[in-house]
Amino acid sequence: MNLYEIGIDGAVVCNQCQERYCDCCPEKAITIGSLGEVVVSQTLCTLCGVCRKACPIGAIEIFNDFVYVCDLCGGRPKCIEACKEGAITFEVDETHHPSLTALKKETKKMNSSQKQYFYLKKLGLEEGN
Ligand code: SF4
Ligand code: SF4
Repeated sequence: MNLYEIGIDGAVVCNQCQERYCDCCPEKAITIGSLGEVVVSQTLCTLCGVCRKACPIGAIEIFNDFVYVCDLCGGRPKCIEACKEGAITFEVDETHHPSLTALKKETKKMNSSQKQYFYLKKLGLEEGN
């Protein structure tokens, strides 16, 4: 997503948040892996959109009858290997599961795109852009 007004481009991916708001699937199609990754069973999923609505930052997308969310590629995220600029990092430490409680309140009435925009703008401003 482009945020021209503060001069950043950004991608919104699952934070493996502490609260795991998306783990509320009525069909029990979502499980949480050992690294906190969100795993969706495309077999059980009925594309209801409850998980997408629950995520405070818009990290879940439904497109062409498929639910997309970062599942950490089983622990070795391929995007990190692919990014030649070294712009992506992944660390398993105490900061790995941030709390999104504040963002959940702030983005309560937003749709997914608005949540992504709000989140990226907040991150960009915190980093001094
Ligand atoms: S609520 Fe959003 S950020 Fe948190 S685990 Fe689910 S998809 Fe990831
Ligand atoms: S879209 Fe699929 S995975 Fe998400 S809550 Fe609905 S049934 Fe569950």
